[in-house]
Amino acid sequence: MGLEMKIHCERCENGLSGNAFICVHECTFCEDCTIAMAGVCPNCSGELVRRPKGPDIARWAKYLKKEVGQ
Ligand SMILES: [Zn+2]
Ligand SMILES: [Zn+2]
Repeated sequence: MGLEMKIHCERCENGLSGNAFICVHECTFCEDCTIAMAGVCPNCSGELVRRPKGPDIARWAKYLKKEVGQ
């Protein structure tokens, strides 16, 4: 067990057909909720990053820093 992909957003319970975001503990959220929560996981206060691989994560981190103003 462990790395099983969740298919529903933990906040609004919508299906995650397109973009999904995860924190380090694999809490999973849809894009709308992630933006609404300013990219912070409500369960563990971890940073939410786009689930796919590669450059998108860096881009998202950059976007977050801009939003949060750090
Ligand atoms: Zn959601
Ligand atoms: Zn979390």
